Amino acid sequence: MSSPRGKIPYSRQSIDEDDIREVVAVLRSDYLTQGPKIRKFEAALASYCGARYAVVFSSGTAALHGAYFAAGIGAGDEIITSPITFVATSNAALYLGARPVFADVDPATGNIDPELIEKAITGKTKAIVPVDYAGNPVQLDIIRGLAERRGIKVIEDGCHALGASYRGKKIGSISDMTAFSFHPVKPIATGEGGAVLTNDEKSYEKLLAFRTHGISQGGPAALEYPAPGGWYYEMQFLGFNYRLTDIQCALGLSQLRKLDGFIKRRGEIARSHEKAFTGNKWFDLPVVNDDSKPSWHLYPIRFKDEFLDEKPVIFDRLRKAGLVVQVHYLPAYFHPYYRRLGYREGICPKAEEFYKRELSIPVYHGMDDADVETVHKTVFNALREL
Ligand SMILES: *Cc1c(COP(=O)(O)O)cnc(C)c1O
Repeated sequence: MSSPRGKIPYSRQSIDEDDIREVVAVLRSDYLTQGPKIRKFEAALASYCGARYAVVFSSGTAALHGAYFAAGIGAGDEIITSPITFVATSNAALYLGARPVFADVDPATGNIDPELIEKAITGKTKAIVPVDYAGNPVQLDIIRGLAERRGIKVIEDGCHALGASYRGKKIGSISDMTAFSFHPVKPIATGEGGAVLTNDEKSYEKLLAFRTHGISQGGPAALEYPAPGGWYYEMQFLGFNYRLTDIQCALGLSQLRKLDGFIKRRGEIARSHEKAFTGNKWFDLPVVNDDSKPSWHLYPIRFKDEFLDEKPVIFDRLRKAGLVVQVHYLPAYFHPYYRRLGYREGICPKAEEFYKRELSIPVYHGMDDADVETVHKTVFNALREL
């Protein structure tokens, strides 16, 4: 598949004719939303990941909000997460009046460092929210172990990591809850969209109600008052309209069938990047844990000391040459909103350094071999001029 306007982005969706047919079929059907495609997509996601339940949401952000709510997180509570993430991870805690506490990362992978999580735990900690950065799974065994000892939950931000595995298990089947995103740059696309996967029935029920205004989804047995008639329903807590449409779920179902192929192609491209760039003098390559199979949502390179100051120049050169590279991420607490909340530079020095070094070069399933070669040539050209 060729790229729009000849540019090669750091990531993008692939949509083919059967995706389009599935969406059009929904447009001709009785239900555009709240119809049969939702449960079908949820069942397919749960089965793919090996989890008992999946609840789809209107975005990955809404999914995180739902997961935190279902975990009972509220005003005065704390969650521990990584600053090397998209701001939605910590914002969703703020929505509930909780405080995000940032723990520093492993400088090689950009993933949260389990030892530093342990140091950040207080009496107010309700959940650890590790982020599988770039689709490279965090050390879930260690993180789960320390959460279990303290009686707190692990809510994994797997927005990069649908299709990735850790010690032979799919991401989505391991943590108390795992949130995914189906934004077009992520492993599968529904336009906007997300999901929470869990094995816990109580969380599942809360997630279902939270997605639809806090209206009980549990039938007559779940009502607080006797039903005076068949029309009756109850809103039992303050939820949101965070539903995903049938149009989007049809696209999600069709995309999910291709996910393994997408991941395979991303892996091939990552190996090709590794082959082309191994031993170069300008930057280090991404590091993957031995016990994981990543989804390669991103291909994060890290500039070496001597070339750090040149990153902005190289960034502009690459963009001008048609590679839509990006930096993932500005540490969440660097954003003005977080600074105004009192977060200061220096909280997580390794994350701040990771941010200074990092640049995401293109890796996505729609790249053909010519695109991959263009990336290699363009990167070498931009760097040789240093
Ligand atoms: C994309 C993303 C989100 C938010 O997902 P949306 O679907 O865009 O709302 C949250 N966390 C991470 C790590 C992400 O990459």
